[in-house]
Amino acid sequence: MTGNLGVYIHIPFCRSKCPYCDFFSFRANKEEINAYVDILCDKIKMWGKKTDKIVDTVYLGGGTPSILGAEICCRIINTIKDNFEVKDDCEITIEANPSSGKFFDFKKAYDNGINRVSLGVQSVNENELRKLGRIHSREDVENTISLIKNSGIDNFSLDLMIGIPEQTTDSLKNSIDFCISSGAKHISSYMLKIEENTAFYKRRNDYAFPDDDLTADMYLFAVDYLSKNGFRQYEISNFAKTGYESKHNNKYWLLDDYLGIGPAAHSMMDGKRFYYNRSVENFKNDVLISDGTAGDLYEYIMLRLRLAEGIDIAQTEKAFGVKLSESFLKSIDLFCKNGFMKRCGDKCCFTPKGFLMSNSIIAELSNKI
Ligand code: SF4
Repeated sequence: MTGNLGVYIHIPFCRSKCPYCDFFSFRANKEEINAYVDILCDKIKMWGKKTDKIVDTVYLGGGTPSILGAEICCRIINTIKDNFEVKDDCEITIEANPSSGKFFDFKKAYDNGINRVSLGVQSVNENELRKLGRIHSREDVENTISLIKNSGIDNFSLDLMIGIPEQTTDSLKNSIDFCISSGAKHISSYMLKIEENTAFYKRRNDYAFPDDDLTADMYLFAVDYLSKNGFRQYEISNFAKTGYESKHNNKYWLLDDYLGIGPAAHSMMDGKRFYYNRSVENFKNDVLISDGTAGDLYEYIMLRLRLAEGIDIAQTEKAFGVKLSESFLKSIDLFCKNGFMKRCGDKCCFTPKGFLMSNSIIAELSNKI
């Protein structure tokens, strides 16, 4: 089938494993990396033969794609261009890490079509970076941003984290101020989540994590402060200057088609979800796991509510040919009264306070659809 497609490429390598990280990533030597890239390029060619969709976004994520170096990243991008129909104005993003970004040839990347960088900053406060087990410094971040800007790539995003041990609202403000003054067009601000199978989880009692109230205050501060500085919140954790929202990530929330190539990469195409599991061997052997159909009413509402624009009740009912139940609408009114949601005619969405509770609110609403 035709239509537009976002392509996600997973690079499962990092220089060291951050203790809080649950992504599928590990250390590897040069031979292992080269062997993986050969497999990856073969799979890109295979998928190119299977679909006529037109690629309008590409995202190299991980792991740490920047440790491959620009030459290999460009080989991957050019393999996509040679095997898919790729739009001229395709958004092509690469995730970079300040510890390897300072060695990355962003100019070469830009010359080969990479036009967006997402840089994992997390914090510019050295004590917080050390608590997170990150191996970069504030100086590495500054150097990497200079390289990105000098390459001609003006669309770059910086990731920050909320809930770091020893973090305060003042220290968060310091990191946000840094990002704002850097010239970034997009800022992501994720809550630190302690996943069970991480080193952080085992040592969780050794750290002075901010408590829930302080974490909530910091999130609300970030939303307000970023908005006052021209970064509109368009999703729970994402903020952008006008026109610089991530086109690729928007596909996940708008239920547009995307294809994930690599171990642990998920896809949604033509109403079906499927993924590769967390194994390079299985990826190599084309073990693809079906994950059911996509885009039912529940999923549509759940994903749209992650976006600041929320849902339009009349449009939703029309799209699915249903009437949303009285108890669903009453619950929305109640959440509005309590300041967790806003409703204007048919449009309803979360407030920043509501975003903090969005998982439990969506769970409650889903029982009433
Ligand atoms: S650099 Fe990113 S992907 Fe790699 S271990 Fe750290 S958090 Fe995980």
